[in-house]
Amino acid sequence: MKINLDEIFDYTSFSVDREAHIVLESDQCTSCDQRACVVCCPARCYSWDEEARKMTFVHDGCLECGTCYVVCRKEAFSRWRYPRGGFGVSFRMT
Ligand code: SF4
Ligand code: SF4
Repeated sequence: MKINLDEIFDYTSFSVDREAHIVLESDQCTSCDQRACVVCCPARCYSWDEEARKMTFVHDGCLECGTCYVVCRKEAFSRWRYPRGGFGVSFRMT
């Protein structure tokens, strides 16, 4: 079965932990010359406002793929781990 990425949220549910599993030090993003996270995150958790020169990150819809951790060359996270037990994303493939 093929799934369009835009449809992935039809096959997922979340139990959001108030304690964020990813904490971004967004000050680092101001001087980042790539901002690969914005284009690589399949859940669109990262949003860059060029006019305000500000990064916004939300962990609520994180798919736990790990891509942002891999692509960020500045290691801009003060915390990056998977959610605590019982929290996070659940995938349903049927
Ligand atoms: S790649 Fe890292 S430093 Fe650059 S904008 Fe994304 S999170 Fe910030
Ligand atoms: S782990 Fe994946 S889904 Fe979660 S914020 Fe990073 S890139 Fe986005």
